[in-house]
Amino acid sequence: MSQKHGNLSINSDNIFPVIKKWLYSDHDIFARELISNACDAITKIKKLEIMGEYSFPDDYESKITVIANPEEKSLKFIDNGIGMTAEEVEEYINQIAFSGATDFLEKYKDKTNEDQIIGHFGLGFYSAFMVADEVHIDTLSYKEGATAVHWECDGGTEFDMTDGNRSEVGTEITLYLNEDCLEFANEYRIKEVLSKYCSFMPTPIFVEKANAEPEYETILPEEKTEKDTVIETIIEEAKTEEQENENGEKEIVEISPKQEKLKILKRPVPINETQPLWTKHPNDCSDDEYKKFYREVFHDFKEPLFWIHLNMDYPFNLKGILYFPKINTEYDSIEGIIKLYNNQVFIADNIKEVIPEFLMLLKGVIDCPDLPLNVSRSALQNDGFVKKISDYISKKVADKLSGMCKTDKENYEKYWDDISPFIKFGCLKDDKFCEKMTNFILFKNLDDKYLTLPECFEIEDKKDDEAEVVSDDNEENQDTPKKTLYYVTDRQQQSQYINMFKEEKLDALILEHNIDSAFINHLEQKNENIRFMRIDADVTDTFKEETENDEAFKEKADTLTEVFRKALGKDQLDVKVEKLKNCAVSSMITLSEDTRRMQDMMKMYNMYGMDPNMMPSNETLVLNANNNLVNYILENKDSENVPMMCEQLYDLAMISHKPLSPEAMTKFVARSNEILTLLTK
Ligand code: ADP
Repeated sequence: MSQKHGNLSINSDNIFPVIKKWLYSDHDIFARELISNACDAITKIKKLEIMGEYSFPDDYESKITVIANPEEKSLKFIDNGIGMTAEEVEEYINQIAFSGATDFLEKYKDKTNEDQIIGHFGLGFYSAFMVADEVHIDTLSYKEGATAVHWECDGGTEFDMTDGNRSEVGTEITLYLNEDCLEFANEYRIKEVLSKYCSFMPTPIFVEKANAEPEYETILPEEKTEKDTVIETIIEEAKTEEQENENGEKEIVEISPKQEKLKILKRPVPINETQPLWTKHPNDCSDDEYKKFYREVFHDFKEPLFWIHLNMDYPFNLKGILYFPKINTEYDSIEGIIKLYNNQVFIADNIKEVIPEFLMLLKGVIDCPDLPLNVSRSALQNDGFVKKISDYISKKVADKLSGMCKTDKENYEKYWDDISPFIKFGCLKDDKFCEKMTNFILFKNLDDKYLTLPECFEIEDKKDDEAEVVSDDNEENQDTPKKTLYYVTDRQQQSQYINMFKEEKLDALILEHNIDSAFINHLEQKNENIRFMRIDADVTDTFKEETENDEAFKEKADTLTEVFRKALGKDQLDVKVEKLKNCAVSSMITLSEDTRRMQDMMKMYNMYGMDPNMMPSNETLVLNANNNLVNYILENKDSENVPMMCEQLYDLAMISHKPLSPEAMTKFVARSNEILTLLTK
């Protein structure tokens, strides 16, 4: 071929400044692009071989070699793929996937890095100029009679193309790094970059340092393979030792026999795993392999709880493994990682356009060759296909979890406390997921048993049948009467109510996690027939005796109300007098569910910057007309100790409802002491 000197045909004077700026923060992606091209070239030649259009030399083994040369400030990428003829270099390199470049310039000339593009395929080779001042290509096509080509370009719009001297089919790309990017000529730095992007590429990748001193290793002769270069044979003499035998006599014993070993050139180890676990069929993967993969990829030495292996070919290609990590801390601090791959090429972590937001709390890998990655992220967001992928992933997760709940309930229960924040968060974020999961959410009851919602209702129904009570009658809605589920948010604090519930054989659900209040709100919105009430929201009829609605009782109630209001200095205090079956209970606080939720919400958002203790309290003090202390107060309302008793009963009721304020607590302790002192008199 005659020497060729030409202009790169792009419609801009110079594309390189743009390339250098483009994705500046991620300029190590040049490595991914060059390795991807090399992998593609190898895939292509393998296909040709299968089709019978090419036959490999006897010792052919596909591989990519990266050579770091700090002295020369260069980095080489060598592959034994398909290679290129001069015409191909002309077409693919000179005319730059050049329509690509034109498009690119058109689209991004006014934009900054914020609209990051993750694909940029079609311009891959030119990403070399993000780190290099000058790039050389030496290539020999697989085609019979092809001539080797040498191409070089110093980052302007001009290139030189001549006959080359590469004698092996394949391509060698040399980057002469610019001063800002010399780090990539360091063997360890480039290894780091490659393990970020190329850990699972399908062709073995070897990294070498140019002119490095040879390294050796020792093997047994039977371990030798054809590829090993033997440097020398080492004879290890037998080792002996003087030992005492049973009779106390000394004798010489051989502890290792004479051995022959081989010193060989250190075998190169690829930096990547060419068949990552997700590419295998789930039936061919053992638990140990899943765990090992998890450790290696996520550097998490806590074992994952379980995992979901995604594997589908239709209607799109998607493979991956999602792990539910073991978490020890509160949900707030969980941080997952979902690594996204395109044909085993790493694209990025946590691309929220593709992966449902709630799954970002998991750890996993997803490989989807069909993803349109050559578009901007904002375009991904509006892509119907991407949405389908995201829906599919979320459906698979729901299927796995519901399947586990149905067929492996024991383990499902075991994992529940750990996985429930994920699932509840998922329900909040994704309606379809919520629909699929609603019947497989577990609720722990007062006996620490896990119940699904249908099970909660079954129990409710049974109780209703026994008591022959028609449920809460919602007249208009006879088919789906509202079911009330009671819940506990703090087992210590609400223990008085819990005991009352237990005595009456009522059940309640434990909802102690901070996601639960949002979650039950959501469930109520989605299911008209469910109503959650905190255990101290109201005094249920079950606890009460039939109240006599006579005048005398009303009078008693009025008197008690007045006495308490006066003693406590709260003239607006709501007081209710009830005849509770349990005589030991003197006083209780109730707060309607809606008011409490409103207060919680205000607290959460710190609304109005208000001190929560300053908020108007809408609590009701319930006094038990069956309790001796209450009756004592009624009968001795003018006695000197009554105000103190009222205060104490109020505080005792309050303590079971919410923490006392510091001042109230101080008073409570002082008063308790005072009361005890009375006993000594
Ligand atoms: P893309 O890979 O997206 O097509 P590139 O600019 O990276 O865009 O490469 C353009 C073309 O150059 C490739 O499609 C391929 O035909 C050719 N090419 C690049 N690198 C190699 C290589 N190492 N071996 C053979 N052909 C290559």
